[in-house]
Formats: sequence, structure tokens, C-alpha cells
Amino acid sequence: MKPRVIFSREEMFKMNRDALLERGVTIRDIAEIAFNQQSRYNDNISMKVCIESVEKILSYRDIFHLVQLSIAIDKMTEEGKFEGPIQDIMQADLGMFGVDEIFGLSIAAMYGTVGQTNFGDIDVNKPGIVKKLNDEGKLGLKCHTFLDDIVGALGAAASTRVAQIVSEDESMKNPNYEPIRFEFEDEEE
Ligand code: MG
Repeated sequence: MKPRVIFSREEMFKMNRDALLERGVTIRDIAEIAFNQQSRYNDNISMKVCIESVEKILSYRDIFHLVQLSIAIDKMTEEGKFEGPIQDIMQADLGMFGVDEIFGLSIAAMYGTVGQTNFGDIDVNKPGIVKKLNDEGKLGLKCHTFLDDIVGALGAAASTRVAQIVSEDESMKNPNYEPIRFEFEDEEE
């Protein structure tokens, strides 16, 4: 029988949540990055919407592939399973490597230019769990060459989603705001 390669969003969410947890990262850790970043601009950010954003993002197919591949590369690097200079480069978490940032940027790019600049901020300032992963990696306890960027990018994506929700809520406060009905909502289920 052929292996199954197409998974439901619920399955992808669970596999991502479990793979991250196994590497020491919780959904709350990622939500805290989003919460702290957005709290700089707004005093009323709720942790609930940050957690909900991380959970949604973890269920997307593109994100699933990037999270799973990144964790697989880090684990294989820890086990010395690559060959030649690339094993040493990834194990050393060489700053000039840059492929880990490409993975992070491709997640952040799903949330536009704001997603990418939010990722840049997190990449430079290394809040919370990102710093913890980076430090563990630098001590040689673990290889988090890809994971620190992935976690930072998930935080940036969640942060940007929260900003979009805040903007949408703000727009509804306009006294002339009128909800519209979309065409598809009229269709029979
Ligand atoms: Mg990295």
C-alpha cells in the first residue's frame, strides 16, 4: 500500500503540535512571541486570540511541510546523518548559512510584508523561546539551526494575524459600518 501523503488540517495541526513539543516548544511559547510583539502597539491584545492564531497557522499545509522538514533536518544533524561540509555547517549553526532563514521567511511571507518585517524583528531580538532555542543550540546540547527560525516565523505569522483581526475589529467601530452578505453564503450547503 502506498504511504498516505495527504492529511487533513486537523491531522497536520496535531502532528505539528506534537513535533514542536518533542523539541521543547509549546503553542503558548509561540503565542507569547505574538502577544509581546503586538502588545507594543495595542494594550488590549488577548492571549486567547494569539493562541488561536498559532493553532490555525499550524494547520496549514505549506506550514506543515516546512515545520516537519525543519525538525527532521535538525534531528538528523544531531544524529550526524548528513555527509561532508553541510553536516558541520548545520551543526555549527553557521550565521552565513541562511537556508534556515529562507524557511522562516517563506512562512512569514504568507502574511505579507508586515509578516516579513515582524519576522525580521524577532530574528534580531530573539524574544522568549527563540532565545532559549538559540542558546541550547549554541551550547551544543541540541541542534536548533532550523527550529529557531521556524518558531520565530510562526510567532511573526501569528502576530500579523492578530494585527489583522485588531484592524478588522477597529473598522467595525465606524458608525457607517454595514456588514455585507457574500454570494457564497446564499448557496445551499
Ligand atoms: Mg537558525
